[in-house]
Order: sequence, then C-alpha cells, then structure tokens
Amino acid sequence: MESSLITCDVCGCHKREVNHWFTSKRNPGRSKITFDTANAIYRSKSGVKHICGIQCLNKLLSQWAMRAIEAEIKAAAAKKSEGNDESERV
Ligand SMILES: [Zn+2]
Repeated sequence: MESSLITCDVCGCHKREVNHWFTSKRNPGRSKITFDTANAIYRSKSGVKHICGIQCLNKLLSQWAMRAIEAEIKAAAAKKSEGNDESERV
C-alpha cells in the first residue's frame, strides 16, 4: 500500500488504483506548461501538479491559457504606454 495519498491539485480527489492520472509542470519564468502521464511520477516534486483525469487537465490548461493571454495583454499595454510616454514628450 502507498505510504502517501496522491491528491488531484485541481479538484482535490484522491488517487485510486484504476483511474488515469497525469502530471503537469509549469515554469513560472516562462510561458510554458508541460503535461505527462503519471505512470511513474508519484513522489511530490516541487512545481509538479497531479491531475486526476482529462477533465481536470483541461481545466488546468484553460487556467494556464487565460493567464498567458492576460500576461501578453499586460505586456502589450505596457509597451504601448511606453510608446505614448515618448510621443507626449515631443
Ligand atoms: Zn481532479
């Protein structure tokens, strides 16, 4: 029997014998996320999330995509306001 219980980082359910789990890892410094099957990775590593199935994987991917889009919009707005500052000085 497993010594530690694996919990989904999206919905909080516990891993059982037959369900198909995934892992994801996100590098906060980059706009990149990776997913993998969770066949061998059951130890908790920093930055690795456990996902109980496709539904939670989709949820996590949607959240990541929304954050990535927001970050791009903020970066574009910051760049635009820098441009405006320069034109106001003229
Ligand atoms: Zn889940």
